[in-house]
Amino acid sequence: MILSRKNSAISSSPTLAIDAKFKAMKEQGKDVISFGVGEPDFDTPQNVKQAGIDAINQGWTKYTPTRGFLKLQYVIAAQLMRDDRMVYDEGNIVVSNGTKHSLTNAFMAILNPGDEVIIPAPYWVSYPEIVKIADGTPVIVQTSEANDFKITAAEFENSITANTKAIIINSPCNPTGAVYTLEELESLANVAKKHKIFAISDEVYGQFIYNDVKHATIAKFIPYETIIVSGVSKSHAMTGWRIGYTASTAEIAQIIENIQSHTTSNASSISQAAAIEAFRRSSLGSVEQMRTEFNRRRLYLVDAINKISGISCKAPDGAFYLWVNVKGLLGNTYYGSTIANSYELCESLLENAGIALVPGECFGVPGYVRWSYAASMENIEKGVERLTTFVTHGEKTFVAHI
Ligand code: GLU
Repeated sequence: MILSRKNSAISSSPTLAIDAKFKAMKEQGKDVISFGVGEPDFDTPQNVKQAGIDAINQGWTKYTPTRGFLKLQYVIAAQLMRDDRMVYDEGNIVVSNGTKHSLTNAFMAILNPGDEVIIPAPYWVSYPEIVKIADGTPVIVQTSEANDFKITAAEFENSITANTKAIIINSPCNPTGAVYTLEELESLANVAKKHKIFAISDEVYGQFIYNDVKHATIAKFIPYETIIVSGVSKSHAMTGWRIGYTASTAEIAQIIENIQSHTTSNASSISQAAAIEAFRRSSLGSVEQMRTEFNRRRLYLVDAINKISGISCKAPDGAFYLWVNVKGLLGNTYYGSTIANSYELCESLLENAGIALVPGECFGVPGYVRWSYAASMENIEKGVERLTTFVTHGEKTFVAHI
């Protein structure tokens, strides 16, 4: 029997695969620590959990409108107004089952077979696959470390063909933590406007920005050509609740609603009730607490990593990842095996040092690894110790492979 050609070419999520491998090792009693998957280690805030419990007790357990409860659409619009001074109403917002789902809906709404989507690398692992699921063609554009791995207007313009339909802007970026400035977004928006290209703006890490850097959205410059995609998974430690949303023109929102009405209907009514609470001003304190703690870990980890010889990283302005240059370790032999690339390095680190990191290959840029600091400070300190031991003693340690 012939199966779907398109979907046979879709690979599974490597970040989720690494997390599954880590969990399996843990179950076998191995002493491993995960800095792999990007999942806040905090519990969902108590008031948000209570809102979910209340929703069950009050019978909010039936279908909701496909786009989500009106109240939820309002509080999302209110946040977009508060954070970005963007004006959206219920005609523009569609709530879905997580940001990944919202991204899929967004691409399904705008792409036709053969349409190209520009994806600046390093990119989040699921972008190319989601584009392919939606019949598009991912076009990977390498960015430079000198520009903090942010695509420039010139790089963007040079990658445009007659088939280019959209560009993905992910700020703060997973995996680099880089944050685009308002000026950078304006120059990218000018190119998009000139060539009539959509921007898919993934802003799921928008609440986690450090220093004096400000969150900005490309929608400010091209509101009709932008689809903002975000959710509560990261901002409110709600990965399991599965709530994401799109903010777009009413026309695109209608297409997304139609698609979703035939695929998943509405997002869970209980999760939606919890998300209403999450988007309220009263929950801002919990987000700020997490941000402060992430910042503390970020500062410690950047410093600690740059003390280890052969590796380096810049202090990112956002998200909760470090993008670590490991090129200085490649070609060396650790624990009896010569490490050719960052993929093999991560395998060896998991096996010999008990730490799970994600290789740069998964994000389209070898020679780097992603370290998620959405892990306790105690584990981060242990992780640094283990990595230091691996780098300083691993080379001398020979393991006899039988
Ligand atoms: N977005 C997170 C990450 O990059 C969660 C895992 C996933 O959905 O890929 O680790």
